[in-house]
Amino acid sequence: MNGKGRIAAALWAALAVGAALAASALVAFYPPPSTFASIYPPDNPHVRPGRFTVPACNGVQCRLCPYNCFLPEGARGRCKVRVNYGGKIKTLVYSQAAAVHVDPIEKKPVYHMYPGSLIYSLAAPGCNLSCKGCQNWEISQIYPEQAPAKVRVPSALEVRYLPDGRAYGELRTEEVSELRPADIVRYAKATRSLAIAYTYSEPAVFYEYMYDTAKLAHEAGLKNVMVSAGYINPEPLAALLPYLDVVKIDLKGFNEDFYRRYTGGRLEPVKLALLELKKKKVLTEVVNLVIPGLNDSEADLEGLSGWVRTNLGAETPLFFSRFSPNYLLNEAPPTPVATLERARAAAKKQGLKFVYAGNAPGQGGEDTVCPKCGKVLVRRYGYAVLENHLAATGGRCPADGTKIPGIWK
Ligand code: SF4
Repeated sequence: MNGKGRIAAALWAALAVGAALAASALVAFYPPPSTFASIYPPDNPHVRPGRFTVPACNGVQCRLCPYNCFLPEGARGRCKVRVNYGGKIKTLVYSQAAAVHVDPIEKKPVYHMYPGSLIYSLAAPGCNLSCKGCQNWEISQIYPEQAPAKVRVPSALEVRYLPDGRAYGELRTEEVSELRPADIVRYAKATRSLAIAYTYSEPAVFYEYMYDTAKLAHEAGLKNVMVSAGYINPEPLAALLPYLDVVKIDLKGFNEDFYRRYTGGRLEPVKLALLELKKKKVLTEVVNLVIPGLNDSEADLEGLSGWVRTNLGAETPLFFSRFSPNYLLNEAPPTPVATLERARAAAKKQGLKFVYAGNAPGQGGEDTVCPKCGKVLVRRYGYAVLENHLAATGGRCPADGTKIPGIWK
């Protein structure tokens, strides 16, 4: 072969390698239907019909969240857990729990429902946002097929006694490959949980699983709490609300640039979700993770508090939580307590009545205080409730009778 021939052969070889790499990248992102069929055979218990879809030219559109993904056959949504499978959108994570714990309700954090109670908390894999500082990225940013096939779940709480007669609880666990809604309700009752939380990852993207569980939980006399980033369209949110008692929304910042760069989403749809919650009169708590240098400017903090005050009302519990470096966001330092104080002061100045500090035990801002007389109504330290004066009164300040919004007994 002469020199020209060798160059041509090398170019063809390079082209062939490039084409093979491009093809494998395409298959990785958009596996053909046969690949899905082999990963998810039709009898896979986690594959169920997805709701809120509309037919579209050569595919289907998912309208569960503001991305409104258009999915051709075999394609998967941005959340990684919904796919066009045989011309219909399917959820891949029904009854596929990725993390299950019995937590103190203060850990959600939810402060205006049953202080000091236990809440059965679960997540399925996946999320529609891609927050750079995600605390739960091991379950939120994975494909469902990357999750362990089995998960250990709390199944009962047994009361034991020390030799001196003092009681303590011992949690029993079981390993399961499928955690169905009826199992969750049974285990929640057996662990003496008063409510179920859909949390850790993003419950909006395991909608069908959450919906069926929440409905059964209400029938069994349990409450439901959704802990979410609020990145869900108003229609599916409205359909779910009859079964939710408290919604905790993580309002990640108050400018579009921050949302776009650090979460992959947009602020406006989250505001719409919050307005829907207000319209439907659902008890809503809002939390903002304050990240130094990224979303802690005066304009951001005052803008957020002012919007909550004006649109959701002065009685909306608002938390400013402490950030710790995590996942892809290691350049920002932990939030100084002084910044949380500044944020709380700005919110109180706007007229908000219940403003808390999160992830800062013993630093102030953990107690629920009567907005009229200043009496401490629920005293907390971290996840522990030291005093609760609202359970006995059904949510009224024992000193002056002021009604405190929440579910207290
Ligand atoms: S839920 Fe998933 S598939 Fe549906 S629109 Fe949102 S990101 Fe896309």
